[in-house]
Amino acid sequence: MEAAIDLHIHSALSPCSDDDMTPNNIVNMALLNGLDAIAVTDHNSCDNVEAVIRAAKGKLVVVPGLELQTIEEVHLLAYFSDLSYLYSFSREMEQYYDGIPNDPNFFGHQWIMNERDEVIGQKRQFLLSSLKLSFEQAVELVRKHKGLPVPAHINKPSYSVLSQLGFLPSNLGLTLLEISQNSPINCNGYPNCKFIISSDAHSLGQIHDRKMIIEVKEITLYGIYEWLSECYI
Ligand SMILES: [Zn+2]
Ligand SMILES: [Zn+2]
Repeated sequence: MEAAIDLHIHSALSPCSDDDMTPNNIVNMALLNGLDAIAVTDHNSCDNVEAVIRAAKGKLVVVPGLELQTIEEVHLLAYFSDLSYLYSFSREMEQYYDGIPNDPNFFGHQWIMNERDEVIGQKRQFLLSSLKLSFEQAVELVRKHKGLPVPAHINKPSYSVLSQLGFLPSNLGLTLLEISQNSPINCNGYPNCKFIISSDAHSLGQIHDRKMIIEVKEITLYGIYEWLSECYI
């Protein structure tokens, strides 16, 4: 069956995101847009993922995930088949924070929320700085915790594996890639790869409608995750 997905959305936890990107606003906009599955992938933190999963319960599939920034300023998405894997990954990842605190007046707030959209805290670590992890180390860490590493918006002129490293390292076996619809790319250069297009939404109006349709056995976290991971050879 067909599933419409948008697997790259930032909540109000990301300092660059609008403050009204709350769990319920994201879920309701996704439902209005006819989506079947989303992922909230904040920069270097997963602190709002559980609230989004709870807000979406019974209405929308939410794939646990986040978006890492490596020391080379490459953005790498990571998806997990279970929230517990995301949490075990996150605990280890936070050891690689650089310790720089956020300045909300300059960069914006980093709100942590519950499933009723109530603010329950602010993230202290500035989330737009790089982890003390190389791209290769980040890929390995995601896989160590049973996650799926997906280079983000590879055709963007900044913060992508192609803009920062100049190439996609072939030794890492990365075969699922995210492309931005706003930048050109010749997909023929990646014959063994599968592509997803997501919104990278930082405001509610940017969340996609049924642009990216995939064929799955069932519209569940299991079914979506199986589609994402089955391209690995
Ligand atoms: Zn990014
Ligand atoms: Zn992003």
